[in-house]
Amino acid sequence: MKLDKQKWQTDFERQLDIAEKPQLSKVRRFYKSEYNKGINSFIAEGQTNFQLLFNENDFLKIYRDLYSDIGIRFANWYAKGFDRYIKKGINPNEFIDQWQNSFASLGSAVGAQRVTLVSGTAKKTLIDITQKLLRDPEFMVLGSVEKGRILKSQFNKYSQYQSRRLVQTEATNAANFATMESATTIFPGAQMMKEWIASFDDRTRSSHAEAGASEPVPYNDAFMVGGSLLMYPGDPSGPAAEVVNCRCSVAPFPKQGAQTVGELSGFNFGLAGAESTGFGLTDLVSFVNALTIKEAEEFLVKNNISKKVNYNGLTIEEANLINKTLYDNYLSINKTFDFDTLDYIKTVRNKNYMFRTSNGLDINLDQIRTNIKELNSLTNILRLEKKIERKLRNLSNYPLNEQKSILKNINLWKKEIENLKNTKLFYGETLEDFITHEFGHFVESRILRNKNNFNLISDFADSRFRNSNGISFENTFQSKLDFISYKKGVKISEYASKNSFEYLAESWLAFTKNDYSIIDINLLKIFKRLKNGN
Ligand SMILES: [Zn+2]
Repeated sequence: MKLDKQKWQTDFERQLDIAEKPQLSKVRRFYKSEYNKGINSFIAEGQTNFQLLFNENDFLKIYRDLYSDIGIRFANWYAKGFDRYIKKGINPNEFIDQWQNSFASLGSAVGAQRVTLVSGTAKKTLIDITQKLLRDPEFMVLGSVEKGRILKSQFNKYSQYQSRRLVQTEATNAANFATMESATTIFPGAQMMKEWIASFDDRTRSSHAEAGASEPVPYNDAFMVGGSLLMYPGDPSGPAAEVVNCRCSVAPFPKQGAQTVGELSGFNFGLAGAESTGFGLTDLVSFVNALTIKEAEEFLVKNNISKKVNYNGLTIEEANLINKTLYDNYLSINKTFDFDTLDYIKTVRNKNYMFRTSNGLDINLDQIRTNIKELNSLTNILRLEKKIERKLRNLSNYPLNEQKSILKNINLWKKEIENLKNTKLFYGETLEDFITHEFGHFVESRILRNKNNFNLISDFADSRFRNSNGISFENTFQSKLDFISYKKGVKISEYASKNSFEYLAESWLAFTKNDYSIIDINLLKIFKRLKNGN
């Protein structure tokens, strides 16, 4: 488990800014309106009794709403980051009620501790300022309009400052509490660790920078922060000096081998791999081999890669190899697409060439690898060489003028052989490569050819196909693909120039190998967009 702290904290603070905005304007509005009531009664009646202002129940509601709104945002943020790794995903909607209750309760509890002080501070501000002004003869001789103008401008500053202080202090607590809570809806607390991520903010106090530099602790333990114990940044049980104005975050993550609370299996949280969640938790998942064929068949179903899998006749090694390859491919596309309808393995197994060198399903992987290599170098060359040999053998049977044209043809075939020596029949060589090639067909047929993703290929096609009214979608797509001249696929492999579909599948394979230079530049853009999920 490796955490990209920079990415995590950047996203955390970005989310925090977004979450705070509506709260800030709401709380500022409340302060302003209460201060205005105070100002108005002070000017009209000269009284400085503000006991009815800044009602504690109004503050309580502010706390409750703030914790609930910000909490839900961060619980979703965290859960969605894990979504792709969890069986059937995490549907945050299932937890909304549970979260809402939990966050609102915390808001009420925190609010109950704070309202007397917060409301008192606001009232005290009114009293202090107005008392001072009552003793200021220059102010007292002003007309009420002028008095109101001066007071409102002064109290607007207090509204701004006090609402900001309130929201920022609570937002960090709400966000981190929700992150912690969200994590426990996915993983049991005992199977998690957590890390303190220090804010990049220049004002980050040294105690927080130190906490951020220390090792992760078990989820249920506290962080040692400047001599105090805090469960997470903003923990209200910590001293104000460690809590106020803190923008740090907590990152809970599963220990290696952790199981989710729900239904997650076949995953291990290890150090391998290079997958990235939306918020910087990287290297979360590494593939774990199934122990039985049944388990292997269930793997793709559990991970929404295939609806139905039949590995009857495969060895467990073969099944695992197919699973791992498909899973890697699946993860390499940012999950913006619905894989639920994929009955993929069936397709793979029906492809003749994948298994054509084997007897039925009794496959020896090493043998397949060898045969694919041989196929690559031999098939067409061999065919041509045999043809040349045959023609030469029978040459004397032909009349002289025909012999001339046969020899001419032989020269052409020899040239073709030279060309073929520089062009592989298939781009790939291993079984993994061939599965990835098949996945390339999936990318083409289920993703690129999906109407909703049609815009993805617009750059990939000639402009004259862009306004193709009257042409059916399928035809248009096919026209587009054909038009870009897959013949240049020969740069990738001979097979890639067979037709537009093979061109795309072979290009996908080259893409997964980072062999970018041989891929059409617009197609490369599409693949990269798919990978980045936009
Ligand atoms: Zn901090």
